[in-house]
Amino acid sequence: MRRQPQNSPRFFLLALCLLAPDRLAAQPQSIFTEASLPVFELHSGFWINLHHTLYHEARQRTAPGPREATADRASAPTTKTAPAAKVPLTAAEQKAWDEAVGYYSGNYANKDLLFTTELIELKDQLGYFEDCDELSGRKRKFCDAGLPPRLTQILEAVAPVYRAHFWPEHDQANRRWILRVAPLVREQGVGLSERLADIYQTRWPHEKIRVDVVAYANWTGAYTTVDPLRVTISSLDQRNQGPQALEVLFHEGSHGIAEAVQTAIIRECRQRDKPIPRDLWHALVFYTTGEVIRTVLASSSATQGDKGGSVPGNGYSAYAVREGLYQRGWKNYLDLLQRFWQPYLDGKASFDDAIARMVSAL
Ligand SMILES: [Zn+2]
Repeated sequence: MRRQPQNSPRFFLLALCLLAPDRLAAQPQSIFTEASLPVFELHSGFWINLHHTLYHEARQRTAPGPREATADRASAPTTKTAPAAKVPLTAAEQKAWDEAVGYYSGNYANKDLLFTTELIELKDQLGYFEDCDELSGRKRKFCDAGLPPRLTQILEAVAPVYRAHFWPEHDQANRRWILRVAPLVREQGVGLSERLADIYQTRWPHEKIRVDVVAYANWTGAYTTVDPLRVTISSLDQRNQGPQALEVLFHEGSHGIAEAVQTAIIRECRQRDKPIPRDLWHALVFYTTGEVIRTVLASSSATQGDKGGSVPGNGYSAYAVREGLYQRGWKNYLDLLQRFWQPYLDGKASFDDAIARMVSAL
């Protein structure tokens, strides 16, 4: 994909300032951004939702692997033609939809949203252009997203179909998810970000982390890409609901600050000439976020008297526990984390000692 200078965020902001009055008058695109929160900026954007929906549909039409099939069954209903259209599509609409899904099947369905640069750039670019009602710049130069011409054509042709049949429901689900998690972020966000940054011996990013809330994300229900740090979370995924929504946000955000853990694990393995354990750092991030959230929510409900308010108390079940991640191959890691990492979280060991002990016990 072309990445033209005029599409850079800095230019985008400048252009936004210059064009703001005109754009506001035109009301080109329905968007929703919760920007008043600390730590995160939550978006429900049209193009990025369309993109993920088409990707999801394309994956459904090709044969997903068993792991993905399981994850998807737990998260989202599937149909053969289009996701949950209440009013049947006209023949022309169905043609545009099928063409778009076909394009995604042919070009993207076999690529991973998290590991393919092309898809990461495309996602980020569609986020920048969320308040444009076109991507070609035909009506407004400003709205030239610089995508491959055929993809621009496909997305612009299918946009009215998505807007008419699926977007209202998707946008509503996204907004509902944002409004539910917002009070927790407002209340706990700063404290949680500072605590997690301390644990990982770094600083939480100064700028708010952009989170795109979408009907369909990837097979895990949420993913994070870096440079720029961006989180994508599914609002329909059952795993992301309730108080775990807050944990999902901070788990994903932690992907941007937990590098010291990976570095330390690798260093200790090299010193001991041991193979680098796959996913130990990720299990550690899951464990840490779960513990920190549980502690904060428990003390918050204690101060509130735990009178059935919106914040759950001691009964909080961390995401990795609730979803059985430790049972599925991380049991040994859980044991290490409880024995050697927990003392660090309790202030009874140093970061370096905790990592060194975990690695030597591997
Ligand atoms: Zn993760």
